[in-house]
Amino acid sequence: MSTSRPRSRLDSVERLPQAAALFFRHGSPRLLAAYLLVLLALRSWHGDLALGDLGAVLGVVIYWPFQEWVLHIHVLHMRPLRWRGRTIDPLAARTHRAHHREPWNLDFVFLPRSVIVALIPVNTLVWWAITERLGVALTGMAAMAAAALLYEWIHYLTHTPYRPRSRYYRSIWRGHRLHHFKNERYWHAFTVPWVDTLMGTNPDPGTVESSATCRNLDGRQ
Ligand SMILES: [Zn+2]
Ligand SMILES: [Zn+2]
Repeated sequence: MSTSRPRSRLDSVERLPQAAALFFRHGSPRLLAAYLLVLLALRSWHGDLALGDLGAVLGVVIYWPFQEWVLHIHVLHMRPLRWRGRTIDPLAARTHRAHHREPWNLDFVFLPRSVIVALIPVNTLVWWAITERLGVALTGMAAMAAAALLYEWIHYLTHTPYRPRSRYYRSIWRGHRLHHFKNERYWHAFTVPWVDTLMGTNPDPGTVESSATCRNLDGRQ
């Protein structure tokens, strides 16, 4: 499992404050942080928290890790589709293929901003459909925005030279590096590694053959 990388802007990032400074120099984390702040402001303007808000947050905490796993396999690793003479190849999938090709290039680590912008109305509509209570909907939307920002932060951090200290982060770091440098068909979780264990995509690395297409998803059979 070779993880050698060329020198890049990441070389200066070995501690969390440096990592955070570089993180917030990128458009996607800034956009998500701004979206989250607007939602938190709207929620605090709307009134006191109630039990329903706790339910919305818990729902997101349970749902998010599975969404991450499913979208990683079925959207980010989606192969271009031919349909009625057209090629369907979403920007998120193209960017993720570039991310596998150049895992140390920060231009491909983050979600494209246009994808985040497109998901904001989806987040609004889903919560509008789930609940009639505006406060609970705002809390749910804010929880989704916070989860997305956390996903961006953790995924980015696994691509910096910052070395994991906690056992939890070490397990995320190890899984994501195995995904990039051992076999891209496993280890799809980004923030909650137990999901891979639960879904059968966290095998003993010693039993998994090294994939020749980790860096070149276009070369998959
Ligand atoms: Zn990655
Ligand atoms: Zn991947």
